[in-house]
Amino acid sequence: MKSFSKSFTQQEAIPEAGIDAAIEVMRSGRLHRYNTLPDEKGETDLLEIEFATYLGVPYCLACSSGGYALHVAMQAAGVQRGDQVLCNAFTLAPVPGAIHNSGAVPVLVDVAEDYCIDLNDLEAKAASSGARFFMLSHMRGHIADMERIMDICQRHQLFLIEDCAHTMGASWNGTKSGTFGDIACFSAQTYKHINSGEGGFLTTRHADVMARAIMHSGSYMLFDRHHAAPPAETFDQIRYETPNYSGRMDNLRAAILRPQLVDLDRQCQRWNERYRILETELGKSSLIQVPERPDAEEFVASSIQFSLPGQSAEQLQQVVRRCADQGVALKWFGGAEPEGYTSRYDSWRYIADMPQLPRTEAILSTLLDMRIPLTFTTDDCRLIGEVIVEVIESLQKNG
Ligand SMILES: *Cc1c(COP(=O)(O)O)cnc(C)c1O
Repeated sequence: MKSFSKSFTQQEAIPEAGIDAAIEVMRSGRLHRYNTLPDEKGETDLLEIEFATYLGVPYCLACSSGGYALHVAMQAAGVQRGDQVLCNAFTLAPVPGAIHNSGAVPVLVDVAEDYCIDLNDLEAKAASSGARFFMLSHMRGHIADMERIMDICQRHQLFLIEDCAHTMGASWNGTKSGTFGDIACFSAQTYKHINSGEGGFLTTRHADVMARAIMHSGSYMLFDRHHAAPPAETFDQIRYETPNYSGRMDNLRAAILRPQLVDLDRQCQRWNERYRILETELGKSSLIQVPERPDAEEFVASSIQFSLPGQSAEQLQQVVRRCADQGVALKWFGGAEPEGYTSRYDSWRYIADMPQLPRTEAILSTLLDMRIPLTFTTDDCRLIGEVIVEVIESLQKNG
């Protein structure tokens, strides 16, 4: 049997320019974002300006995590206790967690065969729930038909918050992911597309939303120190009405992130180069189904998903176990028990009136997921693909 030996959780080093800048910040002692010299723009402020420019939006707030950005996005959008918020049933735990943190109630929408949100179920639940808010996860980097999404949002007057934790650097039909919705949230957590350990961004075109987000993030009335922000008069009332939920980014993290943002597009190409190799290798087995990616979807494949149609839960568990024995770390999204980053919607038992979503369960029951760290070479990816195919084919042959 072929086997693989590198770690699936090994990131690349922080670029030297980031390390140098981080050391500079530490030498200065001015780590807090508002601890700047007169007229100095700190690393956090510069990062916000650069991220807003990268995305092509006027306003950006850097904050402590992606999940924090999601929570603040809902608060800044005016979500009230008890409001319903549409969201993907196939997503990661910070999404329903952020909705819960706002006192709102998630309305879970099915996943479709292409691993995107099911647009028919979205349409139906937008109508039946009367929800005014929609938190859309581009889960594992799969981007749903954004023209249809925007059409649904318009017809149902949904305020759209995009969860771009897996689509930083991605586009749909030439428009950057995160610029479709009213607000977008990004993560700079270690396993995302830029890495400061923890960190997040909130971007928007709405001046009032950004003013509220800045106040929530804990600006201590220093909102005029933000440059990817609306003018000071926007805060005239908002500063009195908006509670401080401290969750700022600091200059050390920002210093580490700035050079990574410069590299982002090149890194995205490297991810996709690896993805295409894996896709080709996995495509060699008729037991494995890798979804066709639409031409409009300019994705960033920092992970790969595939299905084993017709296979049972026991078979899926066996594939995961046997691949692990050969050094390949797969995650199964169909398990009834939440473990290691994956949790099925029905394990979020704090959600009142949990629906049954048999279509989502059926799709997740054969869905496997694998990270593609950039420390893997293209040859590594070829070998990993061969290992997976060998394991799956041999299990099939031996019953
Ligand atoms: C990672 C992630 C988040 C939140 O990011 P953190 O920075 O870890 O809080 C939100 N949504 C999805 C889909 C994610 O994978």
